[in-house]
Amino acid sequence: MVEALTTAPMSRPLALGGAVLLALTVLAVAAPPAWAAESAQAATSRLFDRIAGDPPRLQAFIRAMPKGGDLHNHLSGAIYAESYLGWAAAGGLCLDVATHAIARPPCTGELRPAAAALAQTPGLRDAMIDSLSMRDFMPTPSDASGHDHFFSTFGRFDVAETGHVGDMLAEEASRAAAEHTQYLEIMWYPRLREAAALGLSRPWSGEDFAADLAAVQGGLPALLAEARQDTDQAEARMRQVLRCGGPDADPGCGVAIRYQAFLLRTLPPAAVFAQLAYGYALVRADPRFVGVNIVAPEDDPVALRDYGLHMRAFRFFHAAHPDVHLSLHAGELTLGLVPPEALRDHIRQAVEVAGAERIGHGVDIADEDDPAGLLAEMARRHVTVEINQTSNVEILGVAAPAHPFPFYRAAGVPLVLSTDDEGVSRIDLSHEYLRAVQSWHLRYPDLKALARNAITASFLAGAPLPTDASGAPRDDPALIARSDKAQLQWQLELAFRAFEAHAASAG
Ligand SMILES: [Zn+2]
Repeated sequence: MVEALTTAPMSRPLALGGAVLLALTVLAVAAPPAWAAESAQAATSRLFDRIAGDPPRLQAFIRAMPKGGDLHNHLSGAIYAESYLGWAAAGGLCLDVATHAIARPPCTGELRPAAAALAQTPGLRDAMIDSLSMRDFMPTPSDASGHDHFFSTFGRFDVAETGHVGDMLAEEASRAAAEHTQYLEIMWYPRLREAAALGLSRPWSGEDFAADLAAVQGGLPALLAEARQDTDQAEARMRQVLRCGGPDADPGCGVAIRYQAFLLRTLPPAAVFAQLAYGYALVRADPRFVGVNIVAPEDDPVALRDYGLHMRAFRFFHAAHPDVHLSLHAGELTLGLVPPEALRDHIRQAVEVAGAERIGHGVDIADEDDPAGLLAEMARRHVTVEINQTSNVEILGVAAPAHPFPFYRAAGVPLVLSTDDEGVSRIDLSHEYLRAVQSWHLRYPDLKALARNAITASFLAGAPLPTDASGAPRDDPALIARSDKAQLQWQLELAFRAFEAHAASAG
């Protein structure tokens, strides 16, 4: 099977170009020649139209279809509750049978040893899975909000993450490969807490960013060294779990993985700033980290209070390092969740002040001041919006037709489909493609464009391939040899050719 772009520590992004080129050669043998591609695409499109009203067949079609990448996914939220429970049981952790959370030992009182409790307590496994995810969520007086239930799951399973980053990466990669996703851009980075502590150990200037940077800079090299070691270990464990390089390697070994650093916007400014300084330093030091993000509930009182400050801090770093990519969660809000004033400019600030190249969610675009002007600006600057429809339904209660996907699309803003937290939502990327088809009556060429966007809008290093009038990338062996992005684009095109040849003959 294809060797992943990330199966060895890289001194520079192209260090594994040979492995990918080998993969492309393998795919090229299986794929039909280019002259057959257009008619196969047309035949695949006709097949799609015939089965569009037949959900099971459509689901099978979409699962088999190449989907490019998932650009918006949080590592801890991508893991299914069953895995966390397994690690809790194997690792001697406890289950709180009152709150249905995983907890550290000693297991006394309401805390029971996880392995024994799961084996002996009727109904406990189901109650735990419901508590650690959105499965079967039904509002009750004590658990009334999908928003609150969603975000509170993270605090109920985070104890079980310790020591399992490699296992988590393996789970995500294996799942991605099984649904024909070539690339994952995962929000994860090590030493997040230590970075916050570094900031909190020093006085906060107010808003003298240069002084704040000078104050934390001395602590960054040690964190970066630890981060490299942690990442090496996590990836080594992932490869071990996936049996990469062996005769029975999991197809997940062929999924290319990159990471985004991020700050937690609910923390005090000193902690947020240090996380940002560290995130920028990490992206500049280690090519596996390709961008910086901002996470945690946007409607949190601290997040709302400091939103402008956070955007200005991003601008400070962006001015010094414009080559560090930015994707920012912005506009994950609705009227009622927050006052109308909080809906007026978050996306605009992310684009215009911080310099974001991608926006996560962007749900409240219609409530922004001058939405038409902002949409035109985003289209002009190719600011891509990461659409996480299931997450938006669960957290915000915003479903089609209220969802702004068509609003962005009509304005020519580039879009991608992503999962956000597939473990918490108990979905996968295929589910989001299927949901998009059913919500917005998308057709095969629309899905193909979304999949291609997931590579072109990625933060993979290197220049993209040139495209023809239909949006199809053109072969350019010299560029493919030196650009990670071009390599993945071409890998996706060859996967489409193979998929369409098969679909056309089967349809
Ligand atoms: Zn997210």
